[in-house]
Amino acid sequence: MRRREFFKKIGIAAVAAGFGSGMGGIACSKSRFSQRKGMKISYQIRQLNLKHTWTTVRDSSNIKQNVFVKLEKDGIIGIGEAAPNIRYQETPETTVKVIEKAVSLFENADPFEFVQLGYGIQNLCEAQTAGKAALDIALMDWIGKALNLPLYRLWGLNPEKAPLTSFSIGIDTPEIIVQKVREAMPYKILKIKVGVPTDEENIAAVRSVAPYKAIRADANEGWKDKEEALRKIEWLAQNGVEFIEQPMPAIMVEEARWLHERSPIPIIADEAVKSAADIPKLVGAYDGINIKIMKSGGLQEALRMIWLAKSLGLKIMIGCMIESSLSISAAAQLCSLIDYADLDGNLLITNDPYQGARIVNGRVMVLDKPGIGVAERK
Ligand code: MG
Repeated sequence: MRRREFFKKIGIAAVAAGFGSGMGGIACSKSRFSQRKGMKISYQIRQLNLKHTWTTVRDSSNIKQNVFVKLEKDGIIGIGEAAPNIRYQETPETTVKVIEKAVSLFENADPFEFVQLGYGIQNLCEAQTAGKAALDIALMDWIGKALNLPLYRLWGLNPEKAPLTSFSIGIDTPEIIVQKVREAMPYKILKIKVGVPTDEENIAAVRSVAPYKAIRADANEGWKDKEEALRKIEWLAQNGVEFIEQPMPAIMVEEARWLHERSPIPIIADEAVKSAADIPKLVGAYDGINIKIMKSGGLQEALRMIWLAKSLGLKIMIGCMIESSLSISAAAQLCSLIDYADLDGNLLITNDPYQGARIVNGRVMVLDKPGIGVAERK
């Protein structure tokens, strides 16, 4: 059976005679497309295998199960991916429920009303943003393919202006950390997971093989006490760490303000911010935010977050979960708008089902292809 047939078809909305995806020019006239509404949804759960056991202060795993979505209309297929995260009460099963819930929304949808449709996706249910992200990515990929434009062109962006991306090193023994840092030599910036009693040993292991490399640190809410967090951050700053991500639990916003006043390096919010609505209360508590399309529920909300964060004077990072090249290429469409990139999820897996954005001179470069610019790996 061909791979495409593994996709579980859950929508039977009308699909009119196709126009193909290879049309030339900017074909935005409605007449080029079926007047009949309705997009067909299919999905598939796939296991991604990790190169190394991935450990953060929260959990440890060797595999990841992500949900891949296809939206089809007029012979054009938009593709999306959900990377469910247990931190946000998401599993492949809860994600599939969101996708199944979207069938009736897309049965009656005109994809060119993608902004309104995007709000429809956000309103499908509370939370469960990974499933919403898969739908929004697939919708925007469909739009880009229908208009024969990469999404960065649709949004007026230049991917060559993207910042360098960091490469993440999970929590491990000092010996394995040394090995991982050696493997990561081509990357100009490292992001080190901290928030455990062995932080000092682990950073020393990194510095033993990369004494001058730019490093950033991510505590994933690991320090529960503000004085402890400040001591750790001061120590990290002395060891050349550029900034710290989410030192304390997301809920500790007042303690974050106390820490922000005293920290010698910038503090970036990650778990404390999912969507645009979370951003205003973080001003004065953090220097910047880490946007992930799996947290925001897709590209359209990520773009709204970028505009809001910019207007509030916050630094912007785009990060990722453990994801294939599909979602990485989707997020990378927005990278010329940001200060810090951390898009390495696809580099941590051995069986990436898709190919798209690549690392060129330390930057994640999207392909000059319609939509998110991604194809299934043969
Ligand atoms: Mg983080």
